[in-house]
Amino acid sequence: HVAQIIDGKQVAAEVKRDVTERVQRLRERGIVPGLALVLVGDDPSSASYVRSKRRLATDLGLNAMVHELPVAIQELDLVQFIGRLNEDDSVDAVLVQLPLPSHLHADRVLAAISPEKDVDGLHPANLGRASQGKPPVWPCTAAGIVRLLDFANVPIAGQTAVVVGRSRLVGWPTAQLLLSRGATVVQCHRQTVNLSSYTRQADVLVVAAGVPHLIGREHVRPATVVIDVGMNRVDGRLLGDVDFEQVAPLVSAITPVPGGVGPMTVAMLVANAVSLCEQRRGKRG
Ligand code: ADP
Repeated sequence: HVAQIIDGKQVAAEVKRDVTERVQRLRERGIVPGLALVLVGDDPSSASYVRSKRRLATDLGLNAMVHELPVAIQELDLVQFIGRLNEDDSVDAVLVQLPLPSHLHADRVLAAISPEKDVDGLHPANLGRASQGKPPVWPCTAAGIVRLLDFANVPIAGQTAVVVGRSRLVGWPTAQLLLSRGATVVQCHRQTVNLSSYTRQADVLVVAAGVPHLIGREHVRPATVVIDVGMNRVDGRLLGDVDFEQVAPLVSAITPVPGGVGPMTVAMLVANAVSLCEQRRGKRG
């Protein structure tokens, strides 16, 4: 028995080809999808994430702009800045890179983004729509995970999906998306007692806890498909939330770290920006 290794780079390449074609069709109509990336302060890892988002968006034919704002910016000024992006017709998608400096309230800042330009899907109106199963776009990581499952021909409807983690950015939207696709969803988190009793029920196990090697051989069974969202830097190495060496021989399919969910997330961000452009400008002219 050998587990199928789900190759995120291969699936991301497929997403990128698809996005390139959609951008081409928009450009033929004189529309260039615009992505505004807002970076507050100079945290080096945030800056590097934003640069990689801009680079991929530009490569795929979008008009992507990074707006660098000073770390000491007042919340009202940031909200007004976002307001100008909302009014700018050439901007289809707005992303505010998190985390924000501690004097800014992320909830209020995210709520300032126009829901129809909210590329991360974090505006409260879009969270409400996600809970009904139909947001304008699903948050990138959740969308990437389901794209990986679809690529690997893993059924979702009627299956038991266990999501470890309930963060607003990853765990919660992933559970909602799987639920909307017809899975029976169990959501585990920090306060869950006897984690393995739940994970062993999983047909699909998504792990987004930010705990290196949280999941070992005792958490899985042969039918499990494991999606590892963890990206933990430990002694200069990138470790997943799943102990790949222990778990891979025991399961049906698994994503590696790196090279699994990671490459999907940025690709889905750009795909989301194009979707918002199609939704907002598609019906015109
Ligand atoms: P991410 O952005 O990957 O979702 P966060 O740090 O924002 O990471 O969230 C981590 C999530 O993982 C939280 O919902 C937390 O409850 C969950 N979690 C953390 N540790 C454990 C654990 N030992 N068992 C189960 N869930 C956990």
